[in-house]
Amino acid sequence: MLDLILRRCALPTGGELVDIAVKDGRIAEVRPALEAQARDEIAVDGRLVTPSFVDSHFHMDSTLSYGLPRVNESGTLLEGIALWGELKPNLTGDAVKERARRLCRWSIARGTLAIRSHVDTSDPSLLAVRALLEVREEMKPWIDLQLVAFPQDGVLRLEGARDSLETALDLGVDVVGGIPHFERTMADGAESVRLLCEIAAERGLRVDMHCDESDDPLSRHVESLIYQTQRLGLHGRVAGSHLTSMHSMDNYYVSKLIPLIAEAGLHAIPNPLINITLQGRHDTYPKRRGMTRVKELMAAGVNVAFGHDCVMDPWYPLGSHDMLEVAHMGLHVGQMTGSAEMLACFDAVTTNGAKALGLDGYGLEPGCRADLVVLQCRNPIEALRLSPTRLYVIRGGRVIARTAPETTELTLGEASETVSFDF
Ligand SMILES: [Zn+2]
Repeated sequence: MLDLILRRCALPTGGELVDIAVKDGRIAEVRPALEAQARDEIAVDGRLVTPSFVDSHFHMDSTLSYGLPRVNESGTLLEGIALWGELKPNLTGDAVKERARRLCRWSIARGTLAIRSHVDTSDPSLLAVRALLEVREEMKPWIDLQLVAFPQDGVLRLEGARDSLETALDLGVDVVGGIPHFERTMADGAESVRLLCEIAAERGLRVDMHCDESDDPLSRHVESLIYQTQRLGLHGRVAGSHLTSMHSMDNYYVSKLIPLIAEAGLHAIPNPLINITLQGRHDTYPKRRGMTRVKELMAAGVNVAFGHDCVMDPWYPLGSHDMLEVAHMGLHVGQMTGSAEMLACFDAVTTNGAKALGLDGYGLEPGCRADLVVLQCRNPIEALRLSPTRLYVIRGGRVIARTAPETTELTLGEASETVSFDF
């Protein structure tokens, strides 16, 4: 006996409607008009079913702290970092956990069941690290949290930062992070990339660095990251997050750089909502957008995954952790309105994210984990257009979130009519 059948599902790749059968938490079969019975059935009736959304870049330790102890009035990255410095001494483990749990609930409701979160390891007590490791275990039945040891104040710039980072990894943090552009010099930045990649190689861990998150056209840390990836054989296990300086780089240099990124199998993780609001702040007009070259990276075969980065924290006052909002912004900022380009933006918050994080059993094929979302729309482009209701969110074959379809009752004359945007 099957556990669940989703009837008449539209898949992100198009084609005819199929039934998806689930057994023991995994997808058992995917085919049209399946003749089988299950304990439970959902009539999807032509709506889109996607593997759950993936957020490839987030900051769970600072999320939902907006206004604590004050708001970021200039809206700049540097005031955000200063503000986070003011907030850190007053953090408590309980408050970090409470906010992280709330954010996870929002994510699940929006159909995101995997998040890679950076966590600041600069504080020697590792209060936030310990809190998020607890939340990671507690939330494991419902959402995958992957934690990145992130030396926010610079692994070389801040004394003792290397020790705290290594302790965080000893405690069970999953991935090695970094912030080379925040080190004092370009040479120190390159040295931090070497050091951190070696730590990752020794421990058999993945790497995800905040890299060249500036408008400086001469920032060259992604080049170092590629070099160390090649040297240490970390091919396919390293991500460069943000890479915003590539927006401003000289075109000739970029024509050399992008093939090197592809060759090293580096994953690129732009954060469109944050890049468009934080970059270009020193410009008058014209103002640069600051997002990295998504279209060109994808054309070269680089895996590009989008991250949300922030929700209501020192750097960003908005958001409800909706990855479709992220894809929508990425599409606009990258001017990706061609139909294949729009589909690529949908992939950037689903399959590409799963690749960047190295998630096991992600997808819609038999054998994959039954982590699925039923949306109130018919295809990925409608999903981007509408940011529609997540009707069902399914984890391991079990419905863990359910939302009623959105409809509006209009009364324009004598009679009332019902309007919905999906059909
Ligand atoms: Zn970040």
